[in-house]
Order: sequence, then C-alpha cells, then structure tokens
Amino acid sequence: MTTLYPWLEPIYHQISNAFSQGHGHHALLFKTDFGLGSERLIDAVASLLFCQESEKPCGHCHACHLFSAGSHPDFHLLAPIDNKDIGVDQVREMNEKVNQHAQQNGNKVVMVQGAERLTEAAANALLKTLEEPRPNTYFLLQTGLSSPLLATIHSRCQTWIVNAPSLQVAQDWLHTEYSAETHEILTALRINYGRPLLALECLQQNLLEKRREFLRQFWLFYTRSSPLELLPLFDSALIFQQLDWISSFLSDALKDKLGIQSNWINQDLQRGIQQFSQKQTAQGLLNANQIVQKVRSDLTQINAVNQELILLDGLTKLVTEVFEN
Ligand SMILES: [Zn+2]
Repeated sequence: MTTLYPWLEPIYHQISNAFSQGHGHHALLFKTDFGLGSERLIDAVASLLFCQESEKPCGHCHACHLFSAGSHPDFHLLAPIDNKDIGVDQVREMNEKVNQHAQQNGNKVVMVQGAERLTEAAANALLKTLEEPRPNTYFLLQTGLSSPLLATIHSRCQTWIVNAPSLQVAQDWLHTEYSAETHEILTALRINYGRPLLALECLQQNLLEKRREFLRQFWLFYTRSSPLELLPLFDSALIFQQLDWISSFLSDALKDKLGIQSNWINQDLQRGIQQFSQKQTAQGLLNANQIVQKVRSDLTQINAVNQELILLDGLTKLVTEVFEN
C-alpha cells in the first residue's frame, strides 16, 4: 500500500467511513489541482472498494494484490489516449465491460481521469450509465479545480474538492521529506502556490537557486535593455517556471508599489524587487505582467518551433512598452 499524503487523509477517512456505514456514493467526483498527489487518494478509494478483508484496504488480500499490480480485472480506466479527448467509443467499451458480472465476485470500479476531456457524446453516454446505477459498480472521476464539466454529470456525482493544504501541514511534511532551512521550504511553497509535491520537486532540483540566478539575469536584462542576452538563458524544460518566476517578480514589485507588505512570493529577493519597483509605475508593472502572461499562453498553444520568436517578441515588448517608457 502506498501511504497517503497527510493532507489527503481527512477526505479519505470521510469517504471510507461513508462506505463502511453503507452509504457510500456510487459516483465520486474529485476536483483537484496538480502537485497535490490526489491520484493516491483516488487509488486508495479504489483499493477500499476492491479489498475483501474487513480492515480495508488490507494491502495483502488477493484483490489488493491484483489492484496494486495494475491487473485487477474489474478495474476500468477511462483517460485521454495520446492526448486526445476521451471518445464515445471508449465509454461504450467500458459500459459493455461493466454490464458483465464482476470477475472477482466483488465490486467493479471505473476511474475517469481528466473527466473534462470527455467529448460531448462521451459525456452523454457516461451520463446514462451514471443515471442508472448498477449494483456493485462505482465511478471515480477526476477533474481540475476549475475545469468545465457537464453540469448534468456534476449533478450525478458526489463532489470532493482537494485543495492545497494549510501552510503548516505542507511545511511539516516537506521537513520530513527534504532537509532544508525553513525559509527555503517556505519559499518553495510560496512560488508553487502551496502545492507540496511541486515544492518538493523544486527543492530537489535546486530550482530555488536557479530562480534567484535567473531573476538576477532578468534584472540585468532590464538595466541593459538587452533581450538577446536573456533569451539564451531560457531553458525549454523550465520555460513555464521561468515565466512564472518573472511574473511573480513583477507582481511582488506591484505589491511594493502599492504598499502591500503581505503575501509576497519572493520574500528572499525583497530588496532587489523594491529597487526595481521604485523605477516603475504601477501601470507599467501591470502591463509587464500582461506581456509575460501573453507569452506564456502563446507558448502553450503554438508549437515549439516558434518558441524563440515568441520569447524574443515578448522581451522586446517589455523593453519598448514598459522599461523605456
Ligand atoms: Zn485487501
């Protein structure tokens, strides 16, 4: 059995209590964000539904073994294939399977990963199935916190929202996983908006230092108005994080400009950010952040061939539309 992250335990216990008292819902919808490890929560609920022992999930019965080995015959996964939306054929195939008797004489579990990726036809086909619950058949749907999902599907499910944990819970957990100073752990959490698994990755990959160095270079780019010097420092494996770093730098500068002292993301770079903000206007900082956000969204939509051009265009706009004004 993989252990649950501490921030997932309260939700898990509520769900497991409901099932042990006989009023578990046949369709659970988990709304969640990246970096919170919610896959483990959904897996734990599936194990709970399969386990044949009284202390569920026991981790050692035949059903638990089959599920953790990824070969339980009554487990069905619906997910985007090759990054294509979940089509109606996939749902029909699943429906046929769950119409048959369970092969292990227990429950059948259907997991829908990325439920917002169901095509309309697929969502309607799934809806029919959800509207006519079959005995011993359970649906576990996962979607993003703010992803669009058919209201009718929503209304058939019991919804569980998995948010980022409190700072204290996240901080305590990171201290057990990684040896670092508290201020570094807090910075890693802040720049990842409180998501513990992303913060851990950031510490493990030494991204805090990379970020400091990158933002120093951003400062030089600003003082020298030199897009071509900053451009080669973008790393395609880190590009979205690098843009987020710049964006958080700009939004902290705006907070400074407006005299807001709380909730700074880059508290470790406060002095540099203050110096930067003194030379900007609030409107300029807002514009700068819009330019960076536009670059970020263009990069998610356009193929990587144009990556350099999009970046160069954005950096040039920062110089001509913000820094030189
Ligand atoms: Zn078991």
